[in-house]
Amino acid sequence: MVSGSMTHCPKCNSPAGSEALECPACGILFSKWQERENNVTSGNLARYSIANATSSEFNWTILAIVVGVVILSFLFVQYNQ
Ligand SMILES: [Zn+2]
Repeated sequence: MVSGSMTHCPKCNSPAGSEALECPACGILFSKWQERENNVTSGNLARYSIANATSSEFNWTILAIVVGVVILSFLFVQYNQ
């Protein structure tokens, strides 16, 4: 899969130097990519994606939904007692 001293990007397959830590073409970090691949293999992709999400809006949306559901459930239980 990798020949000679040249490393190829696992994402876009562009050639990168053997010492390169990131792809000069698409800019992924090889260590991060490998970490992601390992998580895919071990089934931890979902947890990894949430923990490393760069979009704070995404996390806030989930948090708002969770909090809203909890509050509504609590109010619903109280209302029906
Ligand atoms: Zn690349």
